[in-house]
Amino acid sequence: MITSRVSFLESADVIIIGAGLQGLSTALHLARKGKSVIVLEKETAGRHASGVNAGGVRRLNRALPEIPLSLASQELWHRMESLVDHDCGFRPDGQIRIAENDDDLEKLEKRYREVSSLGYTHEELVDQKTLRHLVPAVSDHCVGALYCREDGFAEPYLTAHAFRGKARTLGVRIYEKHPVSAIDRTQSSWRARTDLRNFEAPTLVNCAGAWGARIASWLGDNVPLTPTPLTMMVTARVRAFLKPVVGLVSRKLSFKQVPGGTVVIGGGHISKLSIETEKTEIDFTKLRISAQTARDVFPLMKKVPIVRTWAGIEGMLPDQIPVIGPSPNASRVFHAFGFSGHGYQLGPIIGQILADLIIDGRTSLPIDAFRVDRFEEPN
Ligand SMILES: Cc1cc2nc3c(=O)[nH]c(=O)nc-3n(C[C@H](O)[C@H](O)[C@H](O)COP(=O)(O)OP(=O)(O)OC[C@H]3O[C@@H](n4cnc5c(N)ncnc54)[C@H](O)[C@@H]3O)c2cc1C
Repeated sequence: MITSRVSFLESADVIIIGAGLQGLSTALHLARKGKSVIVLEKETAGRHASGVNAGGVRRLNRALPEIPLSLASQELWHRMESLVDHDCGFRPDGQIRIAENDDDLEKLEKRYREVSSLGYTHEELVDQKTLRHLVPAVSDHCVGALYCREDGFAEPYLTAHAFRGKARTLGVRIYEKHPVSAIDRTQSSWRARTDLRNFEAPTLVNCAGAWGARIASWLGDNVPLTPTPLTMMVTARVRAFLKPVVGLVSRKLSFKQVPGGTVVIGGGHISKLSIETEKTEIDFTKLRISAQTARDVFPLMKKVPIVRTWAGIEGMLPDQIPVIGPSPNASRVFHAFGFSGHGYQLGPIIGQILADLIIDGRTSLPIDAFRVDRFEEPN
């Protein structure tokens, strides 16, 4: 007897596409409020950006519209155990953005004035002496910094794992290796098709990361997203020398020493990508530039070998802030993707925002700047 591979239809209140941090966080917050949720993931939870990123938990230097969300998310990071029964390896030892010359310092002073004038107090301007106190190994040419003392870093894969585990405990059904290949509208529901079975719910959430624009286009929403492979590397172990996460004003660098002693280096250097096969290839010219920057700022890194490198695929948008909110074209569809290299820190609050939008039709946080149709408006 021949039977169809798609054997039955499963339903819930909400279907979420993508088990990265945004999808898992949304599932978790919805489940806490009593909704039944199905998450569909084409690979495994946390396989893409959410599991392989640099782990930076940063409010420092956020785009202005992101600041309220980032501050709210940081509160959730500081009580992560109560959210997912795990601290996700969060170490709030600060983040610091270093000026290498007077021009850089001027930019930091301007930023500080701008952020302070809006009433925010989380960014502090520090002079050369304080910088050296906070980061004793920094090169002598560095002249000052902007500092966020309760920022830090966490462990991305542990985070995805903890959110997945907690969501499952709350009854969320997570289907890995279930790529959604089409979405249909039935009378009052959305139907997500996969090779193995179909799923139906009145509400659909698109948290498909670098693939988010493809899903959005099926629903009539056009978002100019570029899937982008961001390069990371890890060094051999070094004696403990650094607490805060370090970034620079004018050069690409994200630099942190993790508890085992290795140093994790990123900063947005782009590798090569085939989005069809999801294969990335390291661009060693960029890797060399990244290593040189690290050596310039931390002379002690001169003889430290790199032991591993990889690239993670992130969805980048032209204005470098995500889309978050309801679809203007499809009823009961919500999007949250295109986090442009800094969505890990926002993950905990994004789930709460989406759950509030889905259940109450509104959120107390300002999300107008993240409108899905903002790229279609005339300048
Ligand atoms: C190398 C790197 C370093 C970074 N460093 C930082 C940092 O230090 N701090 C920070 O805040 N942010 C950082 N980021 C950004 C952060 O990782 C992302 O913004 C965030 O993880 C995005 O989460 P997401 O859930 O939207 O996407 P993802 O984690 O990519 O999840 C989307 C999921 O959707 C799935 N999917 C797509 N299409 C389908 C489909 N058709 N059917 C089923 N499933 C589908 C994908 O397989 C994927 O698992 C970094 C990113 C990278 C790549």
